[in-house]
Amino acid sequence: MKRHKNGNKQYFTKMGTRKKVQAFVRVKPTDDFAHDMIKYGDDNKSIDIHLKKDTRRGVVNNQQTDWSFKLDGVLHDATQDLVYETVAKDAVSQALDGYNGTIMCYGQTGAGKTYTMTGATENYKHRGILPRALQQVFRMIEERPTHAITVRVSYLEIYNENLFDLLSTLPYVGPSVSPMTIVENPQGVFIKGLSVHLTSQEEDAFSLLFEGETNRIIASHTMNKNSSRSHCIFTIYVEAHSRTLSDEKYITSKINLVDLAGSERLGKTGSEGRVLKEATYINKSLSFLEQAIIALGDQKRDHIPFRQCKLTHALKDSLGGNCNMVLVTNIYGEAAQLEETLSSLKFASRMKLVTTEPAINEKYDAERMVKNLEKELALLKQELAIHDSLSNRTLVNYDPMDEIQIAEINSQVRRYLEGTLDEIDIINLRQIQEVFNQFKVVLSQQEQEVEAALRRKYTLIDKNDFAAISAVQKHLSKKGRCQQPWEWQGP
Ligand code: ADP
Ligand code: MG
Repeated sequence: MKRHKNGNKQYFTKMGTRKKVQAFVRVKPTDDFAHDMIKYGDDNKSIDIHLKKDTRRGVVNNQQTDWSFKLDGVLHDATQDLVYETVAKDAVSQALDGYNGTIMCYGQTGAGKTYTMTGATENYKHRGILPRALQQVFRMIEERPTHAITVRVSYLEIYNENLFDLLSTLPYVGPSVSPMTIVENPQGVFIKGLSVHLTSQEEDAFSLLFEGETNRIIASHTMNKNSSRSHCIFTIYVEAHSRTLSDEKYITSKINLVDLAGSERLGKTGSEGRVLKEATYINKSLSFLEQAIIALGDQKRDHIPFRQCKLTHALKDSLGGNCNMVLVTNIYGEAAQLEETLSSLKFASRMKLVTTEPAINEKYDAERMVKNLEKELALLKQELAIHDSLSNRTLVNYDPMDEIQIAEINSQVRRYLEGTLDEIDIINLRQIQEVFNQFKVVLSQQEQEVEAALRRKYTLIDKNDFAAISAVQKHLSKKGRCQQPWEWQGP
């Protein structure tokens, strides 16, 4: 059991084993593949990059020209089906057991992030991770009749540090409508104002996803923003209660499917105005994302910079730490994009080093706990009644005592102390405790009575009241007697 570094202070979770962030690379198919520059290893896990020497820098220079990256998998010419099996299936399956999971696509614009995450909406065969994850969740629910599992979804877009609800029930007008805020509470992080939709079947979830995709496109026209310049987070919230009512634990989890904004550095091409602003926000949020994930993997780090940008803040309880984390880096296979490809692969290999400690989010259902305790209590009382009747004890009441019963015990205690009662019969634990309690009551009453009687007879002097003491001493020395000041003084 351990308290998590990245959030939920209220409850503890069972620890899993340490695990690395999984980093995959997906290469976008092309007829113009740079065979002399990009080479795949036979294990389908490594990729080598060979950059031709920049002759403008002179014949002899120390510029590195060869890189070798070892990842968890290199997906080239991979079908959507294979990508899902390799990348997402396990994380989604584990979400049903209470593990948060985050799957994100990283890479330059056009490299295939949205294709990987959402897929081709018009072609079912080419659907991406998102619809497949929803399918898997609902299929697994059917396979688990022992649990009552609820599924909710939300779709958030972050553009230039502004939050947009892609599933807002209100007509889409723009950012001025009820600005959303990221709020943290003991249960975790949530986005105030973001609509979360209960979906009881796959079809509902699909139509929400479709609505979100449409809103994303509409918003990009009405607001004149490029959809590849925003981060989109589709979240599936799972809550599973056992149908066995005696089971008080329940689990919650989130699956975040993140389509990140294009990672290309536009600065070099002399961009300005809106494009520059977008690029600045994206560069910042992507580097904060990297910093946060790396900090989470560092055992020695206590402070994780989540609040530096909306992306990491919104994902606070779903990044690294106790989650299953999967990164898909989308790259081009063409020579012209090699520099960006290289930078994307470097990002992937840095992420691969980060370790996480996936843990189950387990909570207790307070209502069920009370009900179960009540049941248990009733059962124990019955058990006692049987026990008493078997041992021929007169019917014993185990309920809390009322005032009359307490007064009776008080009287018994007094009579016992006076000697008019020889013994007090033992009935049950509650009664024994009350007898002791009444001894205390009688004792303190008697002490008060004694003190009152003494006060009537003697004057009591505070031993710190030096003026009174010296007056008394003077008085006594006149009488030729000496007494200690803290003793009782006679009149
Ligand atoms: P990104 O979201 O990274 O900007 P997209 O996913 O929109 O890129 O991809 C750009 C274009 O390339 C789209 O038309 C998409 O359908 C196509 N595409 C990307 N990856 C693949 C792939 N693996 N197979 C077929 N088409 C792809
Ligand atoms: Mg895209």
